[in-house]
Amino acid sequence: MYISSRNRSNNVKSHEAIIQGLALDGGLFTPEKIETVIDPQDLLHLSYQEIAKIILCAMLPDYSETEIEDCVKNAYDKKFDHEEIVPLRKISDGYLMDLWHGPTSAFKDIALTILPHLLTKAYEKENRNDIVSILTATSGDTGKAALSGFADVPHTAITVFFPEIGVSPIQKKQMQTSIGDNVEVIAVKGNFDDCQRMVKEAVSSEEVLASLHNVTISSANSINVGRLVPQIVYYYSSYVKLAEQGVIQCGDPVNFVVPTGNFGDILAGYLAKQLGLPIKKLICASNANNVLTDFIKTGTYSLSREFKTTMSPSMDILISSNLERLLFMLSGNDDAFVNQMMQNLKEKGEYTIPAAMLEKLQDDFGAYWTDEDTCAKTIHDLFAEEKQLIDTHTAIALSAMRAYQKDTDDQAPCIVLSTASAYKFSHDVLKCITDEDIEDDFEAMEKLHEVTGVKIPENLANLKNMPVRFTRSIEKEDGMHVIAERMKELGHD
Ligand SMILES: *Cc1c(COP(=O)(O)O)cnc(C)c1O
Repeated sequence: MYISSRNRSNNVKSHEAIIQGLALDGGLFTPEKIETVIDPQDLLHLSYQEIAKIILCAMLPDYSETEIEDCVKNAYDKKFDHEEIVPLRKISDGYLMDLWHGPTSAFKDIALTILPHLLTKAYEKENRNDIVSILTATSGDTGKAALSGFADVPHTAITVFFPEIGVSPIQKKQMQTSIGDNVEVIAVKGNFDDCQRMVKEAVSSEEVLASLHNVTISSANSINVGRLVPQIVYYYSSYVKLAEQGVIQCGDPVNFVVPTGNFGDILAGYLAKQLGLPIKKLICASNANNVLTDFIKTGTYSLSREFKTTMSPSMDILISSNLERLLFMLSGNDDAFVNQMMQNLKEKGEYTIPAAMLEKLQDDFGAYWTDEDTCAKTIHDLFAEEKQLIDTHTAIALSAMRAYQKDTDDQAPCIVLSTASAYKFSHDVLKCITDEDIEDDFEAMEKLHEVTGVKIPENLANLKNMPVRFTRSIEKEDGMHVIAERMKELGHD
């Protein structure tokens, strides 16, 4: 069962949690308990798809084995331009887990190529014929991955809200050129937190609720269980790869370093640990929006700080949604405690967890943040010294890994989650490597290719000539009205 972090008696099966996205009480569906143990020893020499099947069956037990197998087969196929789906790259002091070989060149593809299939199967189970309207807030990468995953999927429609200022020009063009009759892309005059707030508010807004006629609102954000669970798989698959290569024995601890925004990716790592993966530390890497670093170091989550726009826009987030799930799990499913913390956050702009809980948190998590200069130098040096190309988000994590290794005498191997293709951030990455400032991102992409010789992913190479379909931009205050109008359009008898 999955239970809401704000009301533990609100319990649903996994497929219902996937349909609903956010719980109606505003909470996040979280596994009630994890009793299954998955031993990596049993996964040696299995393919990514086979490992995915085992983990998804364990975490989504109301789907049949055949249903899961179908979903996995339809998701992890030739859409990925690497046959291992998530390959591991060795660098001098650690490993890079490349999560960006999917159709939009960001790690979000791993979950968003399978979520539509999980959702469609859930709908078949329920014999429903209403439309699921997927409302999605994006800091850049979720938007395109969701648009690509849901394009023309029967019974669904998708609307993506992105911050007008903040996403990279390539991310913006990726979204605005999306194809599919059921998709819509809207720029918001605000930041990611404004977009996320709109999407969360919509499920309880009176205006929106009154406009629903055979339409159900759901979410493709990492608040959806269907996003979270598929992300557990690559923690296992990369661990197994290290064991297969003889770098570790099954059972040995490893560390994962995760560039973090909404805390979804790293929470999937925490779930992997609950399932029995020998993870020593999950290291939470942040950019200058270092609210999570402070929280993990001090136990106080405080919003009284300035929102900063950085080279790693997908991590420019101050309200990190999935942290709520961690609070719920760490408190032993104490919904009253979570409600109190969320209320404090809303009213006072901060909350503090008890010391004993902080200690527990620090057993599992480390945290570091990296400024823009160090991020740039990390990209530059890795290319200069090892001819390895990474994007700005991965650089934030690699720098955190090095800070951790310097701080501790931990000898366990570190795996850095490499979350996007460098070409998505061509202008910034080129500038880091050669110091050239080429304003046009597509020219910068060509130039970066010339300098590094690394192949440009096909979807990005084709982007330049794609026609822009969506140019609408709205005030954030108009969000509920815009959503309500869209719901009326989608409604049917
Ligand atoms: C979304 C994203 C992140 C952050 O992931 P969360 O699950 O939000 O913590 C990091 N890097 C890239 C490239 C992303 O797109």
